Amino acid sequence: MLEENLKLVKERIAHACQRAGRDPSEITLVAVSKKKPLSDVETLLQAGQPDYGENYVQELCQKYDEISRPVRWHMIGHLQTNKVKYIVDKVVLIHSVDSVHLARQIEKEAAKKDLVSNILIQINIGHEETKFGLEAEEALNMIREISKFPHVRIRGLMASAPFTANPEENRCYFQKLHELFIDIREKNIDNVDMEILSMGMTNDYEIAIEEGATMVRIGTAIFGARN
Ligand SMILES: *Cc1c(COP(=O)(O)O)cnc(C)c1O
Repeated sequence: MLEENLKLVKERIAHACQRAGRDPSEITLVAVSKKKPLSDVETLLQAGQPDYGENYVQELCQKYDEISRPVRWHMIGHLQTNKVKYIVDKVVLIHSVDSVHLARQIEKEAAKKDLVSNILIQINIGHEETKFGLEAEEALNMIREISKFPHVRIRGLMASAPFTANPEENRCYFQKLHELFIDIREKNIDNVDMEILSMGMTNDYEIAIEEGATMVRIGTAIFGARN
């Protein structure tokens, strides 16, 4: 069942790419395994899916410890500064950096472990009160600040669009984020690679791909509904 779901999602990614004149190899699929058992991750690893997203530090660390095979873990949930030390050497990418304060802590912990931490800057594209992330206008200044940290590397932007019954309504947010992504890329800031645009979830990933996503984070469509 999981393998079937994965196959279906990949087909839909390929179709979205076709509509947008893009190559599916430009898109990284992050399977969001939060609240799902490790056995599900093992099944999909076996099926050739390398990247997994988790929202909670404790759950990520537990899965990290228990799995015997190498996994490309992504931290996609809100991250508290006091938890950075637990994950900085366990994940390939932190998607949810929305303050210089948090980036400074990542710098500190990455330096201790003598590594460079790859991060995305999280933007609040829907202007939702409850969502984390920076307003787009603040992004450039913050990126310039964070780019000075030698053990942190900004690789792109991340956002979640509002939940809506009609995902077409989110197209404008994805367009806006893509424009911001290109604007920042054109600034050619030292130590910043604007190459990853992480946007699109179960409800709206095809639209996100049509609008320039290079990474989609998909949970429900692969693993089924979470309780
Ligand atoms: C849970 C979650 C997802 C996956 O959501 P689905 O709708 O299940 O695909 C993606 N991104 C973030 C930040 C999440 O918290």
